Amino acid sequence: MSTLAVKAGRPPSEPDQPLNEPIVMASTYVAGGEVEYGRYGNQTWRAFEDAVGALEGGRALSFASGMAAITTVLDLVAPGQTVVAPRHCYQGTLAHLAALEQRGVLEVVLVDIDNTAQVAAALDDNVALLWIESPTNPALEVADIPALCDAAHAVGARVIVDNTFATPLVQRPLTQGADVVVHSATKYISGHSDALIGIVVTSDDQIHRAVDEARRVRGAIPGTLEAWLALRGLRTLHLRVERAQANAAGLVARLREHPAVDRVRYPGFGAVIAIELTGGADAADLFTRSTSLWVHATSLGGVESSLERRRRWQGEPLTIPESLVRLSVGIEDVDDLWKDLSQALGQTLA
Ligand SMILES: *Cc1c(COP(=O)(O)O)cnc(C)c1O
Repeated sequence: MSTLAVKAGRPPSEPDQPLNEPIVMASTYVAGGEVEYGRYGNQTWRAFEDAVGALEGGRALSFASGMAAITTVLDLVAPGQTVVAPRHCYQGTLAHLAALEQRGVLEVVLVDIDNTAQVAAALDDNVALLWIESPTNPALEVADIPALCDAAHAVGARVIVDNTFATPLVQRPLTQGADVVVHSATKYISGHSDALIGIVVTSDDQIHRAVDEARRVRGAIPGTLEAWLALRGLRTLHLRVERAQANAAGLVARLREHPAVDRVRYPGFGAVIAIELTGGADAADLFTRSTSLWVHATSLGGVESSLERRRRWQGEPLTIPESLVRLSVGIEDVDDLWKDLSQALGQTLA
């Protein structure tokens, strides 16, 4: 995988070809080729898509953001059908599902995605799509992807996995039976908190064509600079994820011992940790204001460590505890990270 991350999506190895696909700024192209117009395609997107497609094991199409990718694939579900989705998935995904349900387009059934029996019981002949996010954001529940894919396919439903948290280095859902993978490539794939971009990957030609068609018409296309930045970030995905995971594992052990921490959620992989503070929401707010190395900011997956209390957002599910703080562990020195966390946690006990 590390070789693919470095090698995929390069121009042909020929004399005087650049090593990296340049930023191609073009709204239109000379007629008679494959692309024709800037809303239909772009060489820089294509290089990024080839690289993510190689890592996930399918063909990729990039979008203006993770939500542009997610709403595009959700809107492909035929009216009148049912979608089964995790109760604790990304709040934007939940908001779009709720909007579709409110307009009478779809039925939505929310489940605990880590409870395979409960999800299987929700799957019947009306279900067109099982949406999986694993680990979930921010509850960090883990789904049994192969078992859920089997159960969904048995009733004729498709399976889409939001693989943002795990990244293709940790989990490759297309090889486990999923039909489609989506990413907020804004997060780990880009990895530097400087670009919004999303991606859809599938090995099903029919779905690929439908998503391509929807992108052409809806126009939620990525910026060329963003695609270039995302591909540049992806080149070091494996190094960043390895280091961030090692840091996360080191912090989890220490957080579990700290008296200000009531509960630590960590699935054992990835670099997002969620902690619940013994002092409740006020302690959590004080904690997020008291760090100096850790940045108080939403989003995740950057080289820098960041944290936030998720329930500060309206629209976050009410079943997410008020005191839950999500930590996105970066690639700094783990002892520096711990020093800052422990002093900020200590303030909540004072
Ligand atoms: C951030 C995020 C999204 C949304 O992506 P944007 O790039 O912000 O539009 C979707 N799913 C998950 C799991 C996320 O963390």
